[in-house]
Amino acid sequence: MTELTNDIRANIDGIRNRIDKAAQKSGRKPADVQLMAVTKKKSADVIRALYEGGIRSFGENYPDETQTKQAVFEELHLGIELSMIGHLQSRKLDLVCKLFDSYHALNRLNVATRLNKTLMEIGKKMPVMIEINIGDEPNKHGWAVDTENNRQAYFTDLAEILKLPNLEVYGLMSLPPYFENPEQTRPYFIKLRELREETEKTMSIELPHLSIGTSVDFEIAIEEGATWVRVGTALTGPRV
Ligand SMILES: *Cc1c(COP(=O)(O)O)cnc(C)c1O
Repeated sequence: MTELTNDIRANIDGIRNRIDKAAQKSGRKPADVQLMAVTKKKSADVIRALYEGGIRSFGENYPDETQTKQAVFEELHLGIELSMIGHLQSRKLDLVCKLFDSYHALNRLNVATRLNKTLMEIGKKMPVMIEINIGDEPNKHGWAVDTENNRQAYFTDLAEILKLPNLEVYGLMSLPPYFENPEQTRPYFIKLRELREETEKTMSIELPHLSIGTSVDFEIAIEEGATWVRVGTALTGPRV
């Protein structure tokens, strides 16, 4: 085994341990939490090492970059889920439909409409998560739900998205404000969990997934109901 494979395997083991503890602490099953490896700016070798360490869920942010790593993802393709987790520029739509299994950061109605059209053309269905700007931050994407008007707009847009036959809405995703102390993120995770419950009731749908938590706060996210945590640097080291 190479040094890279060893290092990454040790990181994966450490994180899985922490996931198990956080799940147990909150009375949840560790198997109900999926560990996504976020591999933006990471090489094919790193991706292969993650796979060898047991990772089957991968997240990428930039379709152009993902395309340069298409070979490795295809080589591993059986049994992995490759998710787009970044903001999608309209001209990259075709690429996303072609390269990815799921889109975890759907943040505009017009993107949903166009995505659905392209997916229909190529005969593919795509699971999506709705991105929520849970801290109402101007530099972040997603629906804000802080005011009554914003909530109305979210529900109105979601009703339209749910009519699109080639998109399967299966959860909510968010990147809350960053705090030095991850405990301070907890209220945002709670807000998102409550929004999921409210959305399920209001729209009469099931939203099995909540994608929250990164390297700095995934344990707290799990305590608050994360079914998918998106971990980059804690698995593969800093991005340079
Ligand atoms: C980069 C990224 C992550 C991973 O962040 P780390 O701090 O490296 O764990 C998670 N989610 C999104 C949306 C990202 O862009």
